[in-house]
Amino acid sequence: MYDVAVIGAGINGACISYELSSAGKRVILFDEGGIASGGSGAAGAFVSPKFSKSGELKELLHTAFLYSMEFYEKNFPKLFTKAILIHIAKDSVDEEILRIYKEKTSLELLAHKEQKRESLSLNAGIVDAALMCQALSKSATFKQEKVKSLEYSDGSWVINERYRAKEVVLATGAYDTVIHEPYIKLRGVWGHRIDIRTTTDNPNSLHQFVSISPSRDGHLAIGATHNVHYHPQRDTEPYDIASGREEILEKASRTLSLENVEVLKDYMGLRSGSFDYMPIIGSLVMSGETLENKSIKFQTKKPNFSAYSYYPNLSMINGSGGYGFVLAPYLAKLLSAYILEDKEISPRLQSARFFARWAKKL
Ligand SMILES: Cc1cc2nc3c(=O)[nH]c(=O)nc-3n(C[C@H](O)[C@H](O)[C@H](O)COP(=O)(O)OP(=O)(O)OC[C@H]3O[C@@H](n4cnc5c(N)ncnc54)[C@H](O)[C@@H]3O)c2cc1C
Repeated sequence: MYDVAVIGAGINGACISYELSSAGKRVILFDEGGIASGGSGAAGAFVSPKFSKSGELKELLHTAFLYSMEFYEKNFPKLFTKAILIHIAKDSVDEEILRIYKEKTSLELLAHKEQKRESLSLNAGIVDAALMCQALSKSATFKQEKVKSLEYSDGSWVINERYRAKEVVLATGAYDTVIHEPYIKLRGVWGHRIDIRTTTDNPNSLHQFVSISPSRDGHLAIGATHNVHYHPQRDTEPYDIASGREEILEKASRTLSLENVEVLKDYMGLRSGSFDYMPIIGSLVMSGETLENKSIKFQTKKPNFSAYSYYPNLSMINGSGGYGFVLAPYLAKLLSAYILEDKEISPRLQSARFFARWAKKL
């Protein structure tokens, strides 16, 4: 019997495995494709805040950015590179946003070379995506297999009719999940990034139309595209790698002129985003049972989340969009405190908010 079974070994599954293993729990971690085989393995894994005017997501990412920078540096310094980031506005609308951001932010802004458009510079970081997921997963028992069945019986979960765990965490990203609830609508956005060799030297991270990493030994990473039309599990035609590369290099060339380019490797995967781009953590509402409860009012502006029925000892961590490497350490800390100490999770991060919205429309 394991204490916890985590399904999905991307950055979210790896971070929650790390938190729970560090607290002394026996964790079993599943991924059908191997550690970091989904969106996480594709990520350029830049760690930066969100440059917007205001909003909940900006605030969350600000907190998570500060937390994750410290987390990676303290616990995995060899897999984390601190790098100065120069963020450049894409257009005039973006320029206005960046001006407001610069006025309001409490982050230390650095002097930097003037750019053609409004820009800012600050200390940020880059994670070695796949190696980081592996390092975080080290203390868990890893099984490379697809979780096809999940049954709750006699007070614990039976996984694939073979393994037992007291608690389950779903960290399946935008890939097919095991429990299907109609109100959880996570959108998979396909992305492509590349590693290149170039004679151009780039000392800093540059973010504008795409993100360009600093160069090391003539190599650098560029990413990523946002393709909302392609889905690896639904499309019958294979993804067009050549046109993806072309798009990335064209976008990069608008920021930096890259000389003598040779593409070394392509990375592709799905990001998983919610309707309001906020991530989801914590227990999962059982929609059928909750809807049957006649004492609950669904047509209300102030839903009572505590009246809903939830799957026993089952939670999720998902919906990190394009910020998985910024959010995961912080979200995993919140989720482990919830699992281990019953610490409340903000209603803005709970799955119940999806359910309430969906049930209201029924
Ligand atoms: C090209 C690209 C570039 C990106 N760049 C950045 C960046 O610079 N910075 C940043 O912070 N974020 C970036 N992101 C976003 C980031 O990668 C995601 O937010 C993050 O990967 C989400 O992690 P996850 O663990 O939720 O999902 P995933 O990494 O997708 O992991 C989910 C895993 O679950 C497994 N799985 C699903 N169902 C099952 C099942 N039934 N049984 C077993 N296994 C299952 C899948 O195989 C998969 O490995 C980028 C994403 C892409 C695609």
